[in-house]
Amino acid sequence: MTSTTYDALCSLAEEHGLLVMGALNPETTGDRDGGTLVLLGAGPGFWPGFLVAPESGDGRADPIDRWSLRVIGGMADALGATARYPFGGPPHAPFVAWALASGRAFSSPTGMLVHVEVGLMISYRGALHFPDRIPFPAPSRISPCGSCRDRPCLTACPVGAFSAQAPYDLGACHAYLDTTAGGDCLVHGCAARRACPVSAGAARTSGQSALHMKAFHPK
Ligand code: SF4
Ligand code: SF4
Repeated sequence: MTSTTYDALCSLAEEHGLLVMGALNPETTGDRDGGTLVLLGAGPGFWPGFLVAPESGDGRADPIDRWSLRVIGGMADALGATARYPFGGPPHAPFVAWALASGRAFSSPTGMLVHVEVGLMISYRGALHFPDRIPFPAPSRISPCGSCRDRPCLTACPVGAFSAQAPYDLGACHAYLDTTAGGDCLVHGCAARRACPVSAGAARTSGQSALHMKAFHPK
């Protein structure tokens, strides 16, 4: 029987720079598991903690994924939970389906997920599965996009890679990132993600964005 509570999980996550991004009962997504799934993402405190973590400066590949394995794996061991990750595999854990089912993340006009607290700076780092039902607050299930009249995420990209009518133009994005002008996105992060007003909740620094961009567009 799990003795932890949703509030205790939120506090523990925060101690590690993580944010509880939502929770769900996984059988509602067709998952054969019952119980409770708690989704964890990079919160406003993530980057300062990561910078002093051993994975940060060891020069090896995939430092944030390795940090996630260590930290979220440690939380799972301590809590009697099973850790799931959005990387590795196959099989691949259905994080997009889980995110949507949590009622706190939604499809945005760009096609990317938008989260009620961190906007388009959404970065799931893992999840904890508990075999028991842990009560959690009912989500609002109200997308921030519904009241976003100007939709700046659709106009901020210098090469128009995002459109409400067409799929994401990955080729145009990478071609732009190879130019001198593309340095702004490489250093400060995707302009479209930054343009979303809700993204401010992630308190994402340029250093953190640059690391993500380096993984997305290696030189
Ligand atoms: S900028 Fe507006 S429409 Fe675009 S993802 Fe953010 S809230 Fe939604
Ligand atoms: S990284 Fe820059 S070029 Fe690529 S989609 Fe985002 S804004 Fe557009």
